[in-house]
Amino acid sequence: MSYLTIDEKLSDEYDCGTAFFTPIFIESEEYLEKLNGRYYYNEEEEHLDIIDENSTQLIGKEILMRSPITCASENGVCEVCYGNLYKVNKVKDPNQPPLNVGLIGTIILTNQMTQKLLSTKHLLQAKVNKILWTENFLDHFTIAINTIYIKDFRRFKLIIDKSDLIESEYMRDENHLIFNRFRIQFGKDAPIEFISPIELQTHPDINKELNENVMRFNPDTEEYSITTVGDSEYDYLFSFEIENNGLSKRIIAIKELIETNKFIKENPIEDVYKRMIQLVLEAGINIDFIHLEVILSFMLNFKGKTRECLKDPDYDLDYEINNVKQSIFFNSNSISLY
Ligand SMILES: [Zn+2]
Repeated sequence: MSYLTIDEKLSDEYDCGTAFFTPIFIESEEYLEKLNGRYYYNEEEEHLDIIDENSTQLIGKEILMRSPITCASENGVCEVCYGNLYKVNKVKDPNQPPLNVGLIGTIILTNQMTQKLLSTKHLLQAKVNKILWTENFLDHFTIAINTIYIKDFRRFKLIIDKSDLIESEYMRDENHLIFNRFRIQFGKDAPIEFISPIELQTHPDINKELNENVMRFNPDTEEYSITTVGDSEYDYLFSFEIENNGLSKRIIAIKELIETNKFIKENPIEDVYKRMIQLVLEAGINIDFIHLEVILSFMLNFKGKTRECLKDPDYDLDYEINNVKQSIFFNSNSISLY
């Protein structure tokens, strides 16, 4: 997960003067702890206030945060939107390169995710080792914990018969297609049939496409199919659920949230932020929310406009959220030489 090289610096500005806030509902004291030293709009006193250990009156309320998500500064995040951690992370010496706070945030997040995954890995591996894959399956796929990669990087067509779809109780709410028989077709070759000893689901983005591709649904053969390649477009092709896999399921959900289009394309940024907080807290990851906000701000794209537009209170918020991989691509011309 360390390839998430999110490039975000702190700007020299004290206050970017943004007209927009990021709303957050303070569900518990833990929320306050993770927002310590951050600025919010005190609606009663009509000025900015800072969150500290005495701010318990905010619990159970929605507050308007100054946040990197809605920061209007062009060259990184301003001090007011970043909060008191700015004083720690801002490099004052002009001869020193600025700290990459995007990288700091992703390191804090992904290191803990990796640690938590490793702690469950042993248990998972023991269970995975008991799964009896066919020789045919192992010839074509690599299995890593609970994800499956295709070995061949050529374009291929993934075909799943409607009759092979399984109604699985545990994944129904996720709208995933669950199956254990499928076919892979390379070019004009005859499709190769695979039977998995465990129920599989596709990568969320492939699943989304499979679900949406009604056009490709062939009513005569009753098969779903999608043409894709086995390269880095997707991290993995399939994944599967292992019992007592609760923690890694949450970690995977965090990864999915920022690395795939599954949730981010249908929900406003406040909801993506809210979901990210919930997943992180459920997974027991200890991280100040500022780091999550820096990651999310990197994923926001104001459709060609610069962040300056956020200074205009009449601006009709218009943005799209790109997953981290797409964002790295979109922002690649801004990656600094440091
Ligand atoms: Zn700002």
